[in-house]
Amino acid sequence: QRARYAALRDRPAVSIDGVRVSLLMNAGLLVDVAQMAAAGAEGVGLYRTEIPFLVRREYPDVEAQTLLYRRVLVAAEGRPVTFRTLDAGGDKRLPSFEHEPEENPALGWRALRIGLDRPSLLRQQMRALIRAAEGRPLRVMVPMVTTVEEFRAARSLLDLELQRARDRGVAEPADVAVGAMVEVPALVLAIEALAREADFLSVGSNDLHQFLYAADRGGERVANRYDTLDPVFLRVLQRIAQAGEAAGIPVTVCGEMAGRPLEALVLAALGYRALSMSPISIGAVKESILAANISELRDYVNYLTKLSSSSVRNRLQNYVSERLR
Ligand code: PEP
Ligand code: MG
Repeated sequence: QRARYAALRDRPAVSIDGVRVSLLMNAGLLVDVAQMAAAGAEGVGLYRTEIPFLVRREYPDVEAQTLLYRRVLVAAEGRPVTFRTLDAGGDKRLPSFEHEPEENPALGWRALRIGLDRPSLLRQQMRALIRAAEGRPLRVMVPMVTTVEEFRAARSLLDLELQRARDRGVAEPADVAVGAMVEVPALVLAIEALAREADFLSVGSNDLHQFLYAADRGGERVANRYDTLDPVFLRVLQRIAQAGEAAGIPVTVCGEMAGRPLEALVLAALGYRALSMSPISIGAVKESILAANISELRDYVNYLTKLSSSSVRNRLQNYVSERLR
């Protein structure tokens, strides 16, 4: 199996009917990024910047962050890297940050909420990202966006830092793309407006599923209680993909479901043309896309989204395995 995946390493994931899906990797540490070529990833679709913060006792200053992000970009060897701004709080408590106890940390003061209340922290991070880019293209995305206004506010902080860089003669990024993570249900109901303002969207299916189903993603008895291949979830994912398509911006999924072959096919059928996953999942996902007819699957998935059953996993599994033979 490993040899089979290795043979596919440099092959793009194109379905038999010609649908091309970019396969990207999720990363958090420099060692992850180093695996990119071996994994056959086309870039980093989600770089979780909080991971290096989790292992540091001191909050890294602009200098330290710049160095780190630059190393990531160098290790990526020109492939695109999407940096997610700090997603602290919730289950990720930084040793260097004062997190007050909360009854419901997943619903609490976290991620962009902290960033907007402590704009100097978010601006420092953006400053470091701009400096690290040193004239290369820069892709930034913000986590836990709940309203379109929050996205706008984050973007203006980046604009301030871009202006500051210009004023100081720091090399401007070759290109700047700012995207939003879609992981809060309220944002899905505003997705058409958001898609007109964002440069790209990326679905955090782990949190989106957790919040939509009110089921703790880490809760032993509830995490797997509701399937991600539930027609309700598929409809939500479909709406996001359609909003991206209507606005002409790319939409990615970077939650765990993107790394499972069956789910990846369904996402491609729903219109997603980029998936970001753990590097070990890329081989299996690529193999399934190479063998699939996505436009045919699209009609079937469209039909399934209208059903009122609680999961369509078995039907999809049967459908796919019948056709793969
Ligand atoms: C997600 O929520 O799906 C996601 C990709 O982000 P994280 O797992 O880091 O919350
Ligand atoms: Mg998340």
